[in-house]
Amino acid sequence: MSQEWNIRSRGHFCSICQKPLVDHAPVISALRETPEGYERFDCHPECWKTAERDWEPFSQWDGVYFAPVKVEKKEALKKEDAGELLRKLMTLDDPAMKNVVYVLAVMLERSKILVERDSKEQKDGTIRRVYEDRRQGDTFVILDPRIRLENIGEVQQQVVALLSGTKTLGEVSSEEESSEASEGAAESGGAETADATDTTTA
Ligand SMILES: [Zn+2]
Repeated sequence: MSQEWNIRSRGHFCSICQKPLVDHAPVISALRETPEGYERFDCHPECWKTAERDWEPFSQWDGVYFAPVKVEKKEALKKEDAGELLRKLMTLDDPAMKNVVYVLAVMLERSKILVERDSKEQKDGTIRRVYEDRRQGDTFVILDPRIRLENIGEVQQQVVALLSGTKTLGEVSSEEESSEASEGAAESGGAETADATDTTTA
């Protein structure tokens, strides 16, 4: 399975009629779950309504298509950084970072960068949430790890440390791993030091 199975970019052409999507016009997007990952559809609303289909979407939503534009504003830099960090984390697909990924997505949603399009509860009780980048249209399918309220502040601090560059991804990943280990087993100190030496960079 592809490492990037949970990021899907928005298309610029209708998935059904193959004609270009129209700037600032409504678009219907859908995700189809396949053994290889999610397949994404972006369609003219008319095409979506009229085309025949013998499958049920994992998720489906109404959006607005924006043609790609060059980033001009310098003040957007900080938000861009957060979006880039999310893309990097999604690509790394590190299970130890699941809390960080989720909290970052929620922070981006609050700053109106992402919008939550759907949520699906899985058989095992976890929730997968579908977020879409409002401008670029990329879709992120993110596991909601159901973080306990008292732990959210700690995770937010790690996100801020990553964004400000005071911590590296490797440092945060090993911190997360060790905090999970200490939640489970009371005294297992070995793993923590092994990971810390891995992440040392010159
Ligand atoms: Zn079409």
